[in-house]
Formats: sequence, C-alpha cells, structure tokens
Amino acid sequence: MMDIDSFGSAIISGEIPKNTMIKGVGVSVGIGIGQVVLMERLVADTCPCRILSPEEIPDEVARFEAAVETAENRLRTIRSSIESGHPLDDHSYILDAHIMLLRDKMLYEGTRQSIEKGSQNAEWALSEIMAKITAAFDSIDDDYLKERARDVHFVGDRVLRILLGVSSEKKMHQLPPNSILVSHDLSPADTAQLKRESVLAIATDVGGKTSHSAIMSRSLKIPAVTGLEKVSRLVQTGDTIIVDGSTGLVIINPDAEMIFRYRQRQELLRNYHQSLLAYGRLPAVTRDGARTIRVLANIELVDEVDIAVAHGCEGIGLFRTEYLFIGRPDLPTEEEQFGAYKAVLSLNKPYPVTIRTLDIGGDKIASSLNLPRETNPAMGLRAIRLCLNIKDVFKTQLRAILRAACFGHCRLLIPMISCITEVHATKSILEEVKQELSNEGIPHGGDIDFGILVEVPSAVAIADLLAREVDFLSIGTNDLIQYSLAIDRMNEHVNYLYDTLHPAVLRLIRQVVNAGQAYGVNVGMCGEMAGDPINIPILVGLGIDELSMNALSIPIVKKLIRSISYEDCLELTHQAFQMQSAQGIHDFLEKWIFDRFPGDYFLSQQ
Ligand code: PEP
Ligand code: MG
Repeated sequence: MMDIDSFGSAIISGEIPKNTMIKGVGVSVGIGIGQVVLMERLVADTCPCRILSPEEIPDEVARFEAAVETAENRLRTIRSSIESGHPLDDHSYILDAHIMLLRDKMLYEGTRQSIEKGSQNAEWALSEIMAKITAAFDSIDDDYLKERARDVHFVGDRVLRILLGVSSEKKMHQLPPNSILVSHDLSPADTAQLKRESVLAIATDVGGKTSHSAIMSRSLKIPAVTGLEKVSRLVQTGDTIIVDGSTGLVIINPDAEMIFRYRQRQELLRNYHQSLLAYGRLPAVTRDGARTIRVLANIELVDEVDIAVAHGCEGIGLFRTEYLFIGRPDLPTEEEQFGAYKAVLSLNKPYPVTIRTLDIGGDKIASSLNLPRETNPAMGLRAIRLCLNIKDVFKTQLRAILRAACFGHCRLLIPMISCITEVHATKSILEEVKQELSNEGIPHGGDIDFGILVEVPSAVAIADLLAREVDFLSIGTNDLIQYSLAIDRMNEHVNYLYDTLHPAVLRLIRQVVNAGQAYGVNVGMCGEMAGDPINIPILVGLGIDELSMNALSIPIVKKLIRSISYEDCLELTHQAFQMQSAQGIHDFLEKWIFDRFPGDYFLSQQ
C-alpha cells in the first residue's frame, strides 16, 4: 500500500502506484468500486487575455450578457427537471440561489466594468473577478463564506464555458454505467443531473459534510468522499478506483487482491447490515434480563431521521440544532425552526426527541451571528455561554422548541454547562418564554424534560448538585475527553493522546452515573464513545441508562447488549478499573469482545 505523501515523483510522471490510498471526509455512506469519469477542472485559470479596441467593447459587453442569459436559461431547465417527489425536491432552492448569483453585483457588474473600463475581453474580465472574489472570501475564517466563494465559481465557470465555446455541460446525465465521478468540485447543478443508476460513488478534492453537494448525495444515497485535496489531479478517466463513503478512504488503482477484498467487504457489509437490521427492532436487554438500555440516534439534519428509524432508534438522543444555523447568511426564523423540530418529533413518536439548544462557537461558526474571533474558541463564548449572551436568538429557539413539544415527547438538552448559575439562568429564560407563549395564547408543551450535557470536568465534579436540578444528564464524551485530558479535539498534533478509555475518563463517567442514580435521574451518553462496540460492555457495567449514537451503529450495539450479561459486565468493569493505562484497558476490552464475538467484532471494525 502506498500513502499519498510518499509518492510525489509518481504524481509528476503520471504513474500512480497500485493501491494508493487517500483519506478525505466520508459524507455519504456506502462503497463504490468502478471506473473513474473525471470531470474537467474549472476553466478560469486557462482563459485567453486580450486588450480590446474601443470599437470592440460594446459587442464584448453584449457577448458577456448573452452568455449570462444562456447560463441562466440552462440552470432554469435543470431546476425545472427536478419534479415534485424527486429525492432532490427539497434542495432545488440551491439552484434558485445560483440563478440569482449570476446577476450578483460584484460578479456581473464587476465583469461588465472590467470590459468597459479595463478594455479586457469577457473571459479575462470574468476570471479576474472570480479570482478576486475567491481571494476575498478565502481570507475570512468562516466555512459559510468559503462555501459561497465556491458558489461564485460554479456559476462563473458556467458562463466562462459558454464564452469559450467549450461544453457548458459536464454531461452528468450521460455518464456510462458503473461510473465513479471524480471532480475538483461538484456544483449543486451537476449533482442534480446525476442518474443514480450510473453513478456508483463520488470523490472530490474540496467540500465538507455540510456542503450542498454532500447533502444532495446523501439524499440520492450515492456514496461520497470529499476533501481529498488532489484526487482530481491523480486520476484519469478509465482508472479503477474504490470509494468508501463510510471511512472516507479512496483507493486509486487497486490491485486485484484489493478489489477482491473490497468486493467482499461490500458484500459482507451489505449482508451484515441487512442481517443486523432485525436486531434494530429489538430492545437492548442484557442476556440475563437484568438491564435494559435505551438506544437512540444522534442527528444533525431532519433528513437523517428516516435512516435512524430504519436502524431501530428508540428516539433521538441528540439533535444538533446548530446545523439549522450554519451555512447561511441569516438566522433561521422561529417558524422554520418550529417546522424542523416538529418534523423530528412527529417522525419519532412515541419515542423521545432530545433537542440540544444551539452549540455554536468553538469549531462551529454561524456567520449570521457575527461573532468576534477568539484566541481559544474551545474555551470561549460557546454553547450555553453564548446563548445567555444573545438572549433574543436563544428565546426564539426556545419558543420554537416549546411549540413543537406539543407534537411528541420533547426533551431539552443544554450544552456545555459548567456551573449551577447557568442552569438557573437557562431555567429562568425558559419560564419567561413559556409565560410569553401563554400570554399570546400560543399552544406549547409546558412540561418538557430539562437536561444538561455533562461535557466539562467542573460539571462532573458537581454532578450531584446538577442532578438535583434536572430531569436527565447526558454525557458528551467528545468534549469531556478534550477538556479533561487537555487535548484540543481539532488539533492533529495531540490527537494521539485522545484516549476514550483513559482511566480518568472512565472515573468521570462513573461519577456522573453515581450522581444520577443517587438522585433518581437518567444518565445517558451521546458522544462518539457510545457507538463504538468495544466500549459497550464497560458502559453497561457502569450502569448507563441510554446510549445515543450514529444510526448505523444501533443494530450492532443492540445485538451486543442482548448477547452479554449484566453480571459479566460488572465483573469486566471491576477488572478494568484496576488497570492503569488506556492501552491496557483497550486491549483487555478488545480481547473480551473478540473472544466472545469474533465475527461481529471484526465486521464492526471494518
Ligand atoms: C460531545 O461533546 O460529546 C457531544 C455530543 O457534542 P458535540 O460533539 O456536538 O460537541
Ligand atoms: Mg460537545
């Protein structure tokens, strides 16, 4: 196997070694094995430059305007081809936004002015404006604005292709069967034209989990990996490639053995997931009947509820509402939020839905909030600290949640609580909002469950005090580990120290569970730790009541819980607590599971 960094010379010579692996972000699950269809890169870098004579200028302006009109007509045709009921029906607004962007002041007027005043030919003028816009957006540390720079490129590229007389379409709808689409980037208009039957997977250089194309590929159920940086420069049309949307791994020029392995993995996973789905429908009761754990799903988007329900979730343990706020220039209205919360609650009836209030700050930025940049954002004005600071935004969210609570079993989850004062302040705002709704005669679910995320070490230390104030506690291990072990979860240099099974982490969890039990309060866990099979026996042994995880892990976790006895888990937990190192505990737990369930453990690690 060859790693990307070790074959620089191979890129230059055009020979890509067999089994070259590159890692990106898996944004849509599943595996695709097939032949690359490489989409040309955007053409802005290769435009001809010419100084116009004064007489040529009016015609050049007209040529530019005509090209914009043609691009607009084409986008309108693509837009109208998305019929009602099409999987992308909900996303067609993205194309409307692109149609409007064609007449964006900077892009449209800026190009016209460069032709008229700078005597530049249309292609040159437009490509320069596109470069300027990108440079301006790039200097801002905001994911939303970076995405907008990509939108400008998508529409600008469309116009450039028309001006240059090169195909303005990438023939998305004419891809040969078994294609793996590789592109520097993929515009929403390109994605909208894909035929699900021909495209086995997508791999792109740029883009993240919340990019428009990622959202659309999930809706189309096409496996996809983005953020691969160089994939479009490494492969040629016709190359064989494997795209694993579950792990974010892409393998270029796989040899026969690798293809065989991945075909097996594809088949195994298909059969395995199929056979496991039956477990999703069963309760997670330990073999001896001594403990029942509620298994729930984490979601970021309303669209994910279907998958969560199909995998057997018994409710939503964490709805990360910040995704309603990220990736847009304005704040979501109360009505819009109400619609989203109501939809999730209605789809999960009679199970509970845990709506986490806005957890913005840290690595999650909402440009609409215009927050100042901080030196140490993970410890800065984040989550509830921020919400208590922007009371109007917080109250709007609480109004929407309280109104939606009429439509199911709603639980409110407050992130990043670090002291009791924050609990009191939040409760007082909640009461204020309830009163306002009552005064306005607006129906609302008055007695929703009130819970907090325990993800800051100080919250663990006062878990007994907090437990008296709430209906449930949910342990957020992703942050609890970073704060308790002093490891920035976004910093790749210290990632190796991020140990889920650190004895300190296990002791913190035990302390929270004990506090919950002492005060009769449910204790759940919604960090990534909850969905990894290796951790399940010790979490059962520790007495956790609920586990919330990514939907795909639910069946295997239920199967595991149903196969182990609480007594064995207690014994295992006792032994693990005698151990000194995370590695020792990890090896012990891995052996414990492997000895009992070798096949399942192997597969769940794939
Ligand atoms: C956590 O910190 O464990 C958690 C669930 O929240 P997030 O990953 O969204 O910070
Ligand atoms: Mg967190």
